[in-house]
Amino acid sequence: SCGICVEKCPFDAIQILNLPQELDEEPVHRYGENSFALYGLPAPEEGRVTGILGPNGIGKTTAVHILADELTPNLGEVGTESDWDAVLEAYRGTALQEYLEAMRDEEMTVARKPQYVDQIPDQFDGATRTLLEQTDERGVLDELVERLGIGPVVDQDIDTLSGGELQRVALAATLARDADFYFLDEVTPYLDISQRMTAARLIRDLAENEGRSMLVVEHDLAILDLLADAIHIGYGQPGAFGIITPPKSVKNGINEYLSGYLENENMRIRETDIEFEEHAPASNSTGKTVIEYPALGKSYGDGEFSLSVDAGEIREGEVLGVVGPNGIGKSTFAKLLAGQLDPDAGAVDAGLDIAYKPQYIDIDQPMRVDAFLSSITNEFGSSYWNTEIAQPLQLEAIMEQSLTDLSGGERQRVAIAACLSEDADLYLLDEPSAHLDVEQRVRATSAIRRYAEHNDATAMVIDHDIYMIDLLADRLLVFDGEPAIEGRAAPPQGMREGMNEFLSNLDITFRRDERTGRPRINKPGSQLDREQKNAGEYYYAP
Ligand code: ADP
Ligand code: ADP
Repeated sequence: SCGICVEKCPFDAIQILNLPQELDEEPVHRYGENSFALYGLPAPEEGRVTGILGPNGIGKTTAVHILADELTPNLGEVGTESDWDAVLEAYRGTALQEYLEAMRDEEMTVARKPQYVDQIPDQFDGATRTLLEQTDERGVLDELVERLGIGPVVDQDIDTLSGGELQRVALAATLARDADFYFLDEVTPYLDISQRMTAARLIRDLAENEGRSMLVVEHDLAILDLLADAIHIGYGQPGAFGIITPPKSVKNGINEYLSGYLENENMRIRETDIEFEEHAPASNSTGKTVIEYPALGKSYGDGEFSLSVDAGEIREGEVLGVVGPNGIGKSTFAKLLAGQLDPDAGAVDAGLDIAYKPQYIDIDQPMRVDAFLSSITNEFGSSYWNTEIAQPLQLEAIMEQSLTDLSGGERQRVAIAACLSEDADLYLLDEPSAHLDVEQRVRATSAIRRYAEHNDATAMVIDHDIYMIDLLADRLLVFDGEPAIEGRAAPPQGMREGMNEFLSNLDITFRRDERTGRPRINKPGSQLDREQKNAGEYYYAP
């Protein structure tokens, strides 16, 4: 206990007590008197991938507008415009000097991938191929399409693509441009792990082989770790001010961020650290069975896709992590359990109440958040509901907004709240991490866990963020197969067996960071990678 709360911290381990204060120096830019101020800038470097790790609303987009020469910063003098020489003077001797000089002396061309790919069909209609051909300034389209696996969709109209397809099309369209500076705002939402690793590889290749500057915002820490050469931490008070630290090594930056304490800045950004279990948790198999399902089969159309699920059982109070590639039937299984689809073989107990949050959220009604949530539960506004759902999901500030005005991350939090607010036996959440920053992922994780425990309910969570699955799941349901052709699901198993099966399908092993115990993807073919594969230990130390 921190001394303020008598009992257990209502936010679990994640309350920020001493919010960081604004710095006692001039910001790079301040939008207006008493408006948002940005301190510090990220420093993109030729041939390198620079990451920014921090919450939404901290000024990342503002920083990119500055680095793209679309916003001349005022160095805190609201109403004036500095010239670049003054800005350069302020940054002489820092990692940013070289970039600013290049920017002053020549035109910097910028290519960027937007954060919310779901909005692309609103801005562009027509064939996917047309969009991609317009952007192919480097003549690399065929290769990108091939490596990203979007060949099957290039002749479809943009508005028929799924979020995962749009994400890869947007990445191809950005990387095909011929720019000096590329800004990629979140590349992982809706992608599975293999697709995330391919995206990381393509971004690294463009930096390494072509000497381009890449700046990425990414909240999947296992992928950021793999992707970046250096990272800046962004902290502050979202919406009020943001501070971008000087670059740190990726390893130290992520470790400091997880520990909640920035060493050079001597700044605590979170009360406690985020911890990972180095050894597989002992399975707490005491829970009663909530649902027992027989072997199930389901195919679509003339059997273009078929799914077969081994018989299994789901227990009370547990969080069952669901992992596996995209397109192999995870959502189909969820719909079978939810009674939205009938299986071809086997039968699901129809007496079970299931609340379902789909991967692609469709709550775009002209209705306020509070009205929407109170239409779902009578508990809305009770102290229990506030503590268990509204606070951890940070809903207070957006209660009066219209659902149609929410950002992707806000919409995700409302959808998770709506799902948990239903009275159900089984809560199925498909990719709750999408568009949440790291802090929000941790809060959402703890809300889902606590909710399942306190309500003797079960949560089944499909997600591709390995850190989130690690923090969230008691057991794992592993899917495998060939995307769009066939899928198989094993019975739910313990974390160790489940991770070994899942990661051996992917051919990836994780080692542990010696300081924080957090999992880090091993380089393929490295000594550790080979040793762990031989021992059959892909994730947990034996
Ligand atoms: P991030 O990309 O980290 O989410 P942004 O740079 O988009 O953050 O925004 C940081 C803050 O600056 C937000 O509170 C936003 O409302 C504010 N802001 C952005 N653009 C303007 C503007 N043109 N005028 C005033 N405030 C702005
Ligand atoms: P996942 O959740 O693992 O990404 P899904 O269960 O959504 O996979 O889909 C599995 C496969 O079934 C995909 O190839 C998908 O295109 C196909 N599919 C999903 N729903 C339908 C449907 N209603 N009709 C025909 N095919 C479908």
